Amino acid sequence: MSISDKIKNLLTKAETGGNLTREDIVALLKLPGDYSPALFAAADRVRKEQMGDEIFLRGIIEFSNYCERNCLYCGLRKSNDKLSRYRMTDDEIINTAQEIKNSRISTVVLQSGEDFFYSTGKICRLIEQIKNETDLIITLSIGERSASDFQSFQQAGANRYLLKHETASAELYKYIRPGCQLDKRMQCLHSLKHLGFETGTGNMAGLPGQTHEILADDLLVMKILDADMLGIGPFIAHPDTPFAGIENDDIEMTLRVLAIARLLTRNTNIPATTALATLHPQGRLLALQAGANVVMPDFTPEIYKIRYDIYPGRTDVGSAAEIISQLEKDFQSIGRTLLYSPGNRPGK
Ligand code: SF4
Repeated sequence: MSISDKIKNLLTKAETGGNLTREDIVALLKLPGDYSPALFAAADRVRKEQMGDEIFLRGIIEFSNYCERNCLYCGLRKSNDKLSRYRMTDDEIINTAQEIKNSRISTVVLQSGEDFFYSTGKICRLIEQIKNETDLIITLSIGERSASDFQSFQQAGANRYLLKHETASAELYKYIRPGCQLDKRMQCLHSLKHLGFETGTGNMAGLPGQTHEILADDLLVMKILDADMLGIGPFIAHPDTPFAGIENDDIEMTLRVLAIARLLTRNTNIPATTALATLHPQGRLLALQAGANVVMPDFTPEIYKIRYDIYPGRTDVGSAAEIISQLEKDFQSIGRTLLYSPGNRPGK
């Protein structure tokens, strides 16, 4: 069989839901560049068949940029004393959730660094208040907590939880997240799944020391966990971190990981991340044509938004209304419309 026949067979196997091995995934990650359009088109067809043409919206509130961790790439790391820190007041958070509701979006994502100023009780009270006043679906993205905390959040009314595993290599994980362990991260993810949260995980593509095999393992983690949401973004180092100056302009590899994630997991919710839009002016549209089906407009008030400085050059400046109206125009150009309803994973 010629090489091109082998590649075509592999792409057909991936598109039709065949059981992809680690070796298959590595081969897809390493495809010669001229096969990328075929890989993205296959992922796009599976997205259409499984999720339809509507783009699911989630409104984000980045309510605190304090963090106890020291991840080597992230501008929010505890040791970055150049960052001006903030915590939104409860009223500001509730008012912003109300804005999300007013713009007809049904889901709020509450995101912060790992900030233990927010005790379990404090987070639960916020959840209850947002639920009572807006009835939004609530997603938390606040880092690692204990299984009993997760249960309390759920009892208070949280529905979904995002916790990217970042990398499936225990060694690389320990290096980029000093003092943290992959095992502990995975335990959190299993607890969340066990409790019945719609659970999101994900990774970064382009990390220093990352191999195709590690990326394949990342994808298998997503599949084996049966994650409901997948956040896949490019590694972008912040200049005020130990990884300053390490470049990653390879949007192609991030798009490949995203496309393979769609082929492997079929009906998951996959955002076109802001990080992709930061790396490439068309990054978001490219992701939406390579398997992504979710966009997360940032509703954080302007005074805080610029200080949620995870990586440099974050796009999406302007009010959320302006951002949504721009997104609407962009998405019409690729034949897609916006969906304001909760957009659960099918079957959830
Ligand atoms: S990646 Fe998350 S946990 Fe790590 S420093 Fe940044 S905000 Fe904190």
